[in-house]
Amino acid sequence: MQRRKFIRNSSIGLASGLLLPALPESSPRPRKPLVRLAHLSDIHVKPGIVPETGLAKALQHVQQLKPKVDFIINGGDAIMDALEADKQKTQIQFDLFKTILKNENSLPVYHCIGNHDTWGWFIKNKALEDQDRLYGKTWVVETFGMPGRHYRFTKGRWHFIILDSTQLNPEGGYIGKLDEPQFEWLQSELSGLPKEEYVCLVSHIPILSICAGLFFNKTESNGDLKIQRNLWHTDFLRLKKLFASHPQIKTCISGHIHLQDDLTYLGIRYLCDGAVSGNWWNGSFQEFSPAYAVLEFYSDGTCSRQMVQYEK
Ligand SMILES: [Zn+2]
Repeated sequence: MQRRKFIRNSSIGLASGLLLPALPESSPRPRKPLVRLAHLSDIHVKPGIVPETGLAKALQHVQQLKPKVDFIINGGDAIMDALEADKQKTQIQFDLFKTILKNENSLPVYHCIGNHDTWGWFIKNKALEDQDRLYGKTWVVETFGMPGRHYRFTKGRWHFIILDSTQLNPEGGYIGKLDEPQFEWLQSELSGLPKEEYVCLVSHIPILSICAGLFFNKTESNGDLKIQRNLWHTDFLRLKKLFASHPQIKTCISGHIHLQDDLTYLGIRYLCDGAVSGNWWNGSFQEFSPAYAVLEFYSDGTCSRQMVQYEK
């Protein structure tokens, strides 16, 4: 129904004192978003014509958007890999990322750490941890000029909380969750926020996602769908309880899986925003082309997402 017609019809109801139907669910959003950003995740840059020109193209594409975005969020895994790479190879990748960013981008960038941005965890040299101060996440935090491995920034009524969701698994590999000090920090950040403001959480690994279970594109032989502990936040049930007492949390965005999904659970929208590198710079990954997300955040606490295939 056209809005004008609806109002005209409704005024009959008003005059006769009848109860009016609630506005249809598709009632228009406030037209202008408070914040408009581009979320570029899983860039995985490395030396080579395809990744280097691919990143440049994605950044140029973002800057040509109309209307313009206010800033970029780098969702993590900016470089191909530092977990296993030696110092020289890691340096080359970080330098490459920063050089392309400097040459091709003039927007502010907020960085989030991905598992592959963490240096040395998988290098089989136990002494490295004691001998090199850049071991682990120090290098990425310093080289990207991050305020810390997790932090918050505010744009109008929206707070963006950047999390560090990759933790070393003592039994090998890594695991998706918040470490204890970070969980306490998040708790205290949330408790200090005014009730009428909103929160978007940014994590590299999804807090909740169905594509985390679809990454391997198969089920177990018995039909179970497995969600591996390095593909989602294993502390989700704990986070769910925390989120329940902070209704300001409206949106959680992530990457890591290179797939895209959009699900709402208990009033929070969880968006997994694909990968700029697609299939690690080899075309599409499963059904998803290389892409980034444009997100708009509104004054009523909602947000909209548009996935952008920048190569088309
Ligand atoms: Zn990742």
